[in-house]
Amino acid sequence: MVAESYDAVVVGAGGDGPVAAWKLGEAGLSVLLLEAGPFYGNEQWPKPNEEPGGEASSSTADLSGDLLDEQFTTREFEMINKLLFGPADHERGFWFRKFPGDGAILQCAGVGGTTLHYTGCHPRAYPASIDEQGHWPIDYADLLPYYREVEELCEVTPAPITAKEELFFRGAARAGWEFIDDYNVTGPGYRPQPNAIRPPDAKLHVDAGHDGGFTYPEVRGDTLALGNIAGNPHPRGAPYEEKAKRASNVSFVPAALRTGNVTIRPNAFVTDVRTETALDDSPTATGVAFRDTWTGRTESVEAEVVILAAGAIETPRLWLNTDLPRNEWVGRGLTIHFGDNVMGLWDAADLEGILGKRTVDQHQGQDIAARFDYPGLGMLQTVGTGPGIGAILGFGASASGFAFQNDPDDAPWDTMGRLAGAELKRLLSDYRRMLQILVVSDDRPHKRNGVTVSEALPDEHGPIPLVNYEPSRGDRQRRDELAEIAAEILREAGAAHVHRSDSPPTALHVHSTMRMGKVVDETCEAYDVERLFVADHSALSNGVGGANPTNTGQALAARTADRILERYF
Ligand SMILES: Cc1cc2nc3c(=O)[nH]c(=O)nc-3n(C[C@H](O)[C@H](O)[C@H](O)COP(=O)(O)OP(=O)(O)OC[C@H]3O[C@@H](n4cnc5c(N)ncnc54)[C@H](O)[C@@H]3O)c2cc1C
Repeated sequence: MVAESYDAVVVGAGGDGPVAAWKLGEAGLSVLLLEAGPFYGNEQWPKPNEEPGGEASSSTADLSGDLLDEQFTTREFEMINKLLFGPADHERGFWFRKFPGDGAILQCAGVGGTTLHYTGCHPRAYPASIDEQGHWPIDYADLLPYYREVEELCEVTPAPITAKEELFFRGAARAGWEFIDDYNVTGPGYRPQPNAIRPPDAKLHVDAGHDGGFTYPEVRGDTLALGNIAGNPHPRGAPYEEKAKRASNVSFVPAALRTGNVTIRPNAFVTDVRTETALDDSPTATGVAFRDTWTGRTESVEAEVVILAAGAIETPRLWLNTDLPRNEWVGRGLTIHFGDNVMGLWDAADLEGILGKRTVDQHQGQDIAARFDYPGLGMLQTVGTGPGIGAILGFGASASGFAFQNDPDDAPWDTMGRLAGAELKRLLSDYRRMLQILVVSDDRPHKRNGVTVSEALPDEHGPIPLVNYEPSRGDRQRRDELAEIAAEILREAGAAHVHRSDSPPTALHVHSTMRMGKVVDETCEAYDVERLFVADHSALSNGVGGANPTNTGQALAARTADRILERYF
């Protein structure tokens, strides 16, 4: 049951909120973690998308691996429809946000948040993006102990190598890049992805000759069966906390519940931050109001500190929809790692010479298991997807129109743009000989980019987020440079055809809309509201150089929890 007051209330049980809840719970504080979406794999909600279920959960005894197996089927289409930003009751449709052009914001509601369909990549920020770009008021060294803490709990380890990674490494080495053997990346090079995914069972090593099943307990750890974007409940049959991908629902959430001091209330959309203001003083946060997404009933709860962790779109939206002071940077400075896709296609005979087999088989191994880092520009990573998602990402959308409209004669790629009809069929029929590289650029925070709201466009939780994103010339240049490096790596790896999408901006990684140094101070407490903290990716001062952001968001949330304890408890 939810009480009337807590030491701390955390808004959002996504990637970062559970980290703060765990640390505060461990220190003995009573914590309420409010989550807008459902709680999958919890016996209090056996049919989370059909019935309201229970009210709140405070114990790991509620967590069930079998239930998660039932709910996370790995059927791509079914899971994409399940892991969306909307209420548990799927009859009601998703929660709308406005985003420019053909792009989209990819975010997920539910305990675990967007880590439910993240691919588990857990690199650190590039030190230079924190120490040299001038956006951050703290040093990279401040984050190091928290990185270690997060990496230990998430079991971060270099990803196993399968054919697609071997091919990528071959191309990168032949293109003259160095191998990187350090989590602190100071120069360009390639390496296995540090992933928050348990390594595969030794039985699955290529020489082990395993011809048994792939379910728990026969196989423990990663099954190399892809499917992280679809939730990844592997290995099937494993207890809840033994699932290979250490999304926050299977890592920090159980850790938080085990403290005995944390209560999680799903289906609770926070719509108001309550404050009190003494005469001539700045406001102090005193609690929140939330709306039950099944019943529509509004409830409120009091707290000594309020921690916003609703993600880089909803945290500023919540601020803007409540009666909080108007700091000009609230919602501003959005970075999304302005990305692109470069695809390589191989001839079967060439592959046989390189890999000893005639296919790349991108569906084998971890989804994203090899990367190329270039501090100052961003990164590249190989992506293994099913054919459907691969077609959408690699060929389905482009800012340059259809491929036949473009003449890439002088470019390092053979085709660029959207593919359709016979050409799309031809390339997709070669799916098993294809490798996709995701280009993730170090876009910088600009004031014009971010979240606003308008009274004219509300949903049941108030005005919806209107998101603007327009890359600068520098952002485009960095992305172009990375796309050229990707094409070179693919060619050096022997690809016979290279295709660039020129993808429209899509918000896969969203950060820096409540930036440390602009909206919140070095402890992540709001400059203008006492006892109000931000502990999600919106508090990041920039896009951490283009490295996947979750490790840094979680490390910062852990640090924020320590600062809260020092300042108020
Ligand atoms: C397909 C995909 C793959 C990705 N892969 C990676 C990867 O490999 N590595 C990586 O680092 N990053 C990856 N990301 C990004 C990563 O998932 C996010 O950066 C991370 O989850 C952000 O954490 P967060 O806490 O800021 O926000 P979220 O994880 O989005 O959590 C916010 C939570 O708050 C809840 N919420 C929102 N509003 C309210 C409200 N008003 N009241 C209550 N609750 C609310 C939401 O429902 C959500 O659960 C990926 C993203 C996608 C879409």
